[in-house]
Amino acid sequence: MVTELEKVAEIIKKSKNMIALTGAGISVESGIPDFRSSGGLWDKYNPAIYASIHTFNSNPEKIWEMIFELMEMTQSAKPNAGHVALAELEKIGFLKAVITQNIDNLHQEGGSNNVIEYHGNANTLECLKCGRKFSPETFDLAGKKIPKCPDCGQVLKPAVVFFGEMIPQNVLLESQKYAEEADVVLVVGTSAIVYPAAGIPAVAKRNGAKIIEFNLEETGLTHNGTDIFVQGPAGKTLPALVELLKK
Ligand code: NAD
Repeated sequence: MVTELEKVAEIIKKSKNMIALTGAGISVESGIPDFRSSGGLWDKYNPAIYASIHTFNSNPEKIWEMIFELMEMTQSAKPNAGHVALAELEKIGFLKAVITQNIDNLHQEGGSNNVIEYHGNANTLECLKCGRKFSPETFDLAGKKIPKCPDCGQVLKPAVVFFGEMIPQNVLLESQKYAEEADVVLVVGTSAIVYPAAGIPAVAKRNGAKIIEFNLEETGLTHNGTDIFVQGPAGKTLPALVELLKK
């Protein structure tokens, strides 16, 4: 019997423009909780409040309680076998780009070169007043000192897109182009509900792409766009796919 992964491998072998859209699920096996993990960061800090630009603007000190914990977690996390498998797919020529909703830098650390960060990267701090950007190492974050812009005194913010903020225009345009040109989209570890990133599979599908979904459980996309659903942890299913493609 041909398995779902074998079917996926056959589709990929014929593809010319494959991209991946990843979400928080791919980093769960690196120890960073997704919005659904229980007992994690997001049980303590409701993302609707703590990841909102309106709350940050009115009370940045409150949001920094959560950011200190988030940054400690992202800075100590290591890429897992799922990140490495996507890097491998790029290296062997199948994967053209990873569009990630994650802010943890783990695709780059796992070896992927062409990564579009839809929601930014927590490894950079920015001043919303004067626009300067800083490396977190410049500040005493381990000592829980809230970083302020040395020029204008404004409390800094990680260069990630909070709820209520715009996705940078260049990121939108580049992702749209990849989606329109894709013939296969690997949708990995995302609940596919946070727009506009969640719209990428539909754009690709309208242009004829096959949508392959990798997730622990079915999502809204599974019966509304997905062509093949591969169930399981991405740290196992993606390396297994790479092995099939190398045969
Ligand atoms: P989400 O939390 O809404 O959904 C995660 C999905 O991943 C779920 O469907 C879950 O079933 C699946 N999943 C969990 N573990 C998995 C595994 N081992 N293998 C495969 N699938 C797995 O995440 P989202 O769709 O990315 O949306 C949440 C938003 O929060 C995004 O915008 C993202 O930027 C942000 N976020 C980022 C991080 C990070 O950078 N690591 C972490 C949490 C949230």
